[in-house]
Amino acid sequence: QLANGQAGRKRVAETRDEDEGAQRRARRARLEAERRALPVWATRDALLAEVRSHKTLIIVGETGSGKTTQIPQFLLAAGLADGGGGGAGGGGGGGGGWRGRGMIACTQPRRVAAVTVARRVAEEMGVRLGQEVGYSIRFDDCTSPATRIKYCTDGMLLRECLVDPLLKKYEVVIVDEAHERTVSTDVLLGLLKGVAARRGGSFRLLVMSATLDAQAFSSYFGGARAVWVRGRQHPVAVHCTTAPEDNYLDAALNAVLQVHCEEGPGDILVFLTGQEEIEGLERLLADRAAALPDGAAGRGGGPGELLALPIYAALPPDQQMRVFDPAPPGCRKAILATNIAETSITIPGVRYVIDTGFVKARGYHAKLGADSLQVVPVSQAQARQRSGRAGREGPGKAYRLYTRDAFEALAPTTPPEILRSNLASTVLQLKAMGVEDVVGFDFMDKPPRAAIVRSLELLFALGALDAGGALTPDVGAAMARLPVDPMFGKVLLASGRLGCSIEAMQVVGLVSSDGLFHNPRTKRDEVAAVRAKFVAPEGDHLTLLAALRAYLQVPRKQRAMWASDNYINIRSLRKALDIYDQLEGHLTALGLPLRSCGDDPAPLQRALAAGLFPHAARRRAEGGYGVIATGQEVFIHPSSVLCGKKPECVVFDELVRTTKHYARQVCRIEPAWLPELAPAFFAAKAGAAAGAVERRGGGGGGGEGAG
Ligand code: ADP
Ligand code: MG
Repeated sequence: QLANGQAGRKRVAETRDEDEGAQRRARRARLEAERRALPVWATRDALLAEVRSHKTLIIVGETGSGKTTQIPQFLLAAGLADGGGGGAGGGGGGGGGWRGRGMIACTQPRRVAAVTVARRVAEEMGVRLGQEVGYSIRFDDCTSPATRIKYCTDGMLLRECLVDPLLKKYEVVIVDEAHERTVSTDVLLGLLKGVAARRGGSFRLLVMSATLDAQAFSSYFGGARAVWVRGRQHPVAVHCTTAPEDNYLDAALNAVLQVHCEEGPGDILVFLTGQEEIEGLERLLADRAAALPDGAAGRGGGPGELLALPIYAALPPDQQMRVFDPAPPGCRKAILATNIAETSITIPGVRYVIDTGFVKARGYHAKLGADSLQVVPVSQAQARQRSGRAGREGPGKAYRLYTRDAFEALAPTTPPEILRSNLASTVLQLKAMGVEDVVGFDFMDKPPRAAIVRSLELLFALGALDAGGALTPDVGAAMARLPVDPMFGKVLLASGRLGCSIEAMQVVGLVSSDGLFHNPRTKRDEVAAVRAKFVAPEGDHLTLLAALRAYLQVPRKQRAMWASDNYINIRSLRKALDIYDQLEGHLTALGLPLRSCGDDPAPLQRALAAGLFPHAARRRAEGGYGVIATGQEVFIHPSSVLCGKKPECVVFDELVRTTKHYARQVCRIEPAWLPELAPAFFAAKAGAAAGAVERRGGGGGGGEGAG
């Protein structure tokens, strides 16, 4: 009986295995067919010949033609990653083993793209993610010694240049999405130009871009060869609104519903600016769907069901991958995306595009001396790229939620990020790589000299550079190794001396993993009630820390429940702990003591002040705050626990600009600490009883040598 039962179970299991095996084979065959249908497949041999005969090659191709997913696979299979002369044997795949363990790096400006593309390629190659194909993004390395193709963010490859300036691990480096011109891409291009010149025969540099602006890249690389990969583009009918919309979220909602009810089959892609908006529209769509008369969805002849699928950076990877799944029969997908879907990833099935005309961009306010995230209008090039996404598989329609005049008034293209960014972290890294003359670095587009000088001043104030502009061995070299913004690097370094490195690492983990507190709008009072127990009078950093500490007290098995009861995003908590572990490794390597300040918040407040002092602000008699370093007026963000508490002096993480400038993530500090913690930056005004602190005038900056 027993034996029979076991045999029966075994037989069932075998049949299941066979079924699964058959399914897997069918899926592989389908993937293979999809691959071969991509435009780059037609050019495969020609492309490989070009790579073999050119050390640096520019590849331009329409979005969705298969550059990112296919070209690294072509190169690997052709043996171009093996080193020693460019794969004489070709073939790849078959027996015989690898001759070398050279790797291919393919950089992406966006984390989501690095992760989703790596997943896709691993599936196409039939390997486990992290084995032959992996990805590496900040705080998340999914690679192994077996990895041959690595998708990574441009920033990660930049960090690798710090320890391996010639990138010897890689036989091929592909700078993908170069048209995005992120700061990291631009710096990487400058460094790789040197690497290509210094490394021998087999190293290959490919620069891939979606726009037709190959000329700029080609001439930057000394007239490098550029090749085009033709894509397929069907006509797209573009509709603009006749009058300006005052609420583009409402307009987007109406547009989605209208397309869904009136148009033929095909998925909808909506471009929004960020997570909050995406969640907002998701909610609005759910409300509307629920309000439809019963049975309107899914009944034969009706518009069918509408499936809203979000995609943005903070979404868990398995949910990100859901946008790629075909809509179930009778369903239409509405993909709610940030500009990640503009060129970085291509979602099959899209026939309708809805473009709000806005994008969230990181910008630098020279006057404020701080980065800020701002919602800004897209450029005409971006608007065209967005509408083009509707015509990849057949004729499509694009709905711009702005007027034709508004389109005409848009900037033709988006200027490179390096022209409008905070360069402190970049300058620090260049210095750590031995680039002494940052102003003279071979940038494709030179950042404004003033921006570089300001970064040098900031790094000097943080103690990372000496007065001559050289990296200081204790602070600067250590800071460059830490995978965080220089100001937070300083917080961590100071925390060692102040006896609170554990808390500092926890806080840096928390602020780096963002989105810890979940704030459903419909449950405002309930949320406020449960959150009250975490609120720290010292501010947002300590409030986050209190939540983390409470979580760590909860028995493991109850943690998920606890998090949901407390409106806390457990993923972001786990992420914070993961970052903590990684930072612990870094601090240990730097020889910093791991110490806790227990229940005394003051050491942590001081550590925060020691790094964030360039963002110190004082309350003004007339209301609001003045940033001490710049005099800029700011207000405490309504989401801060210090909003309305009127602390005398604060430091903050970042600025958000809407109608006013708002400081987000705020910590109360004592003004008297500032001249102690950053004597080079502040001077206490002797005799001023109230302890007025002023920025030390002129000449305090660490200029680039004498001039
Ligand atoms: P390009 O880099 O030229 O813009 P990609 O290589 O990113 O093109 O995409 C090629 C094709 O692969 C597209 O048709 C896209 O839809 C498909 N694709 C990419 N990632 C996935 C995925 N995760 N799931 C399904 N299809 C995907
Ligand atoms: Mg691509």
